[in-house]
Amino acid sequence: MTARDLSLFETGARLQMSESIDLTIQSLLAYGPEHDHWVVAWSGGKDSSATLTLLTWLIDSGKVPAPQRLTVLYADTRQELPPLAVAAQEIMECLTERNIAHRTVRAPLEQRFLPYILGRGVPPPNNNTLRWCTRQIKVDPMTAAIAEVLGDGTALVITGVRQGESAIRDRRIEMSCSKDGAECGQGWYQQALPESKGVRGRIATLAPLLHWRVCHVWEWLRYWAPKQEFGEWPTEIIADAYGGDEAEEINARTGCIACPLAQEEKALQAVLAMPRWAWLEPLTGLKAVYRELRAPRSRIRKSGAERLKDGSIAKNPQRMGPITLEARSAALEQILAIQAECNRLRPLAMPEFSILDAEEEACIRRLIAANTWPEKWDGTEPRADQFLPITVYSNGAEQHDMFGLEE
Ligand code: SF4
Repeated sequence: MTARDLSLFETGARLQMSESIDLTIQSLLAYGPEHDHWVVAWSGGKDSSATLTLLTWLIDSGKVPAPQRLTVLYADTRQELPPLAVAAQEIMECLTERNIAHRTVRAPLEQRFLPYILGRGVPPPNNNTLRWCTRQIKVDPMTAAIAEVLGDGTALVITGVRQGESAIRDRRIEMSCSKDGAECGQGWYQQALPESKGVRGRIATLAPLLHWRVCHVWEWLRYWAPKQEFGEWPTEIIADAYGGDEAEEINARTGCIACPLAQEEKALQAVLAMPRWAWLEPLTGLKAVYRELRAPRSRIRKSGAERLKDGSIAKNPQRMGPITLEARSAALEQILAIQAECNRLRPLAMPEFSILDAEEEACIRRLIAANTWPEKWDGTEPRADQFLPITVYSNGAEQHDMFGLEE
């Protein structure tokens, strides 16, 4: 198979794209036959959706021999941008029509993003200290699902990790998922899966679009995959979610709606700019809710008087911790109100919008009612915005309030 065989691409950019596809085919021909079972780890984002639809077309068109078994695992965080969630549903319907086995993978109820924050009180993630979410809501559930579908066997796990030209230039894979243009979780699969308990030593990973340029991903999703000859996939909506024709300039990073780690909501803004998704405008209020949950007035802190079992002082004896029950309840109502407002504005033809369904809401209310806290906290600690009369430093030194305010 050479670039010339793909008659559609004649010059310039199209030729580059045909070369990209050709390299993808070569990688699948080189590594695929060693494995009977292929598992596609699909996040619903642009890169892994391009990987899934291209792979299926390559198999259907005979350019790549079909494996004995193919399983598609969709990582659903429950926090996806609605156009991506809708596209994922439609793609799964297409997979069903093609008799391709697929499964939706979610974290256990209490471990999901909002139940973990509002039910258990763990603050929303940030870039510095509390980056718990990617592993918990994406990587671990995917690893568990792969281990389950593997049974006693082995598999080639196909991911949408993409590094563009740098993949070829640098011959290395970055593990960061915080860059613009990346999907959250990119790199994590590559790094985490082969080492993870349950699948260690039994899977190989392949990222057949590693070398693809971002413009080729748009081109595939927007113009090629929807064509009958390439499989008639409903992928335009994904390209649109990343900013449509201006996607390359916008270069939006996607992941959860209002991801607390992203400075700007480029993907949400791109979606809101499209008239058919303008009803999602209330989602712009989510970021402020997450910001408030990290504020000292919404949290408790260690008093500083606490000593560890061996009598030593903890590293940060007045560290801020979980979210108060009151702040959690208030945020729950605000998020439900945002969701209800979106659904009130939603055109009838659009599916109901849900980032917090009845089961998750009930779970959160139950955990709050049961006075649930993360390990090593019990809710008796002072609020983080309260004045503490004694300051304890990590070397054990204490500074007492010198103005008699202790009483
Ligand atoms: S998109 Fe943001 S909030 Fe969601 S898992 Fe990734 S880093 Fe966490």
